[in-house]
Amino acid sequence: MAKEAIASSSKKQAAPAKVVCIPRDQHPISRNDISEHALKVLYRLHKAGFDAYLVGGCVRDLLLGVQPKDFDVVTNATPEQIKQLFRNCRLIGRRFRLAHIVYGRDVIEVATFRGHHSDEHEDDNKLSRKNDEGMLLRDNVYGSIEEDAQRRDFTLNALYYNIADFAIYDFVGGMADLEAGNLKLIGEPEARYREDPVRMIRAVRFATKLGLRIEESCRKPIPKLAHLLDDIPAARLFEEFLKMFLNQKAQANFEVMNELGLMAPLFPVLKTPLKDPQSIEYRMVLQAFIDTDLRLAQNKSVNPGYLFAALLWYPMVARADEIMQEASLSEFDAYQIASADIVGLQARSIALPKRFSLPMRDIWLLQLRLQQTSPRKSIRLLSHPKFRAGYDFLLLRGRVENDPQLRELGEFWTQLQADHPDATAVAPTQAKRRTGAPRRRTRRRKPSQ
Ligand code: ATP
Ligand code: MG
Repeated sequence: MAKEAIASSSKKQAAPAKVVCIPRDQHPISRNDISEHALKVLYRLHKAGFDAYLVGGCVRDLLLGVQPKDFDVVTNATPEQIKQLFRNCRLIGRRFRLAHIVYGRDVIEVATFRGHHSDEHEDDNKLSRKNDEGMLLRDNVYGSIEEDAQRRDFTLNALYYNIADFAIYDFVGGMADLEAGNLKLIGEPEARYREDPVRMIRAVRFATKLGLRIEESCRKPIPKLAHLLDDIPAARLFEEFLKMFLNQKAQANFEVMNELGLMAPLFPVLKTPLKDPQSIEYRMVLQAFIDTDLRLAQNKSVNPGYLFAALLWYPMVARADEIMQEASLSEFDAYQIASADIVGLQARSIALPKRFSLPMRDIWLLQLRLQQTSPRKSIRLLSHPKFRAGYDFLLLRGRVENDPQLRELGEFWTQLQADHPDATAVAPTQAKRRTGAPRRRTRRRKPSQ
């Protein structure tokens, strides 16, 4: 059914790439499925004489009947040429130079076809650079569409929808893998993981999200190479963490990642306990991910700070116990120091931004204050801005530890909230006002002279 042709190979590529073209009447992607802004970008590039394709997750998801998260465009226009075509264009990125076409809150990402790396390019480290492990540090060599396809990660992420003829172009066997439910890296798996170790995490995410099987040759090298994640910048891993665990597949992703040894490099303080599903740490992590999936399914919000509080709680408590044995400090002081220690250790692998790490520490410290049940203090605590999170966390601990005392404490706070409904529903701004902060700043008049 699909028309086959031989695409011209460019420059240094040895064998010509075989391209499969699936014409419009033989695939289900309709222009009605494509966002208005993405279509605008595709058409403008096309009318200016450039090649313009949709590529990656959006083509894959549309073929699988899944609503795409976003639409990525790829073209033979250089970032500078793209900028000249669109007034609403911003050029971004050093590692990957990209154009963002901005329509209010909607952003269409436009990339230029990436080319192959060569020694010649590696000498010029403005364009491309690898570290000693073979990891790509910079990747701005432009090339042909065939080369671009080879540079992508998985075969089913390298399908191109052409705005010129509405056909899909497949250079790497992505269509066949998609039909077979097979997640397969393009090229030699180990080399591709070394080039970018984040692909190991992406493999798990796509497999669970789309119900695919990671091909054995791609699955096998992962445990051996998982340690390469140590070299990934902590800020990038935070972004990956969000994609991985805030998408209703947190439990499945955790289980597969842990089995493949990918959790330990992300959470070194959990390395040993995560080997034992009976350990309290393991049970807590699992429960936190199960709850996350459940909350998202109910359209409730999930805060990464809360999730991190759960993942790192027992390592923090263990550290606080050590500190209390070493020095005669109060439990509160020991928690403060232990929190800082654990946040510091964790930041080497995944950098949790302050807007999340501060609430996480609040949740931890609240666990001590929630032990205090004297009538006056406890009612006052209900208006703490993080009370709700701290209380939910107490209940979570009660479930995980199956400890009657903790459960009883949880029931105390449940009852107290029911008895004092006005005391809990305090928005942070109102809380400020209660403490006497003025509604508006008024400028003092200068004393008359
Ligand atoms: P989703 O957006 O649903 O998470 P996606 O496949 O669109 O999935 P993106 O991170 O948006 O993922 O990347 C877009 C495309 O860029 C991918 O489909 C793939 O072709 C390519 N790509 C992304 N990351 C890599 C990588 N680390 N190595 C090689 N190619 C990549
Ligand atoms: Mg995407």
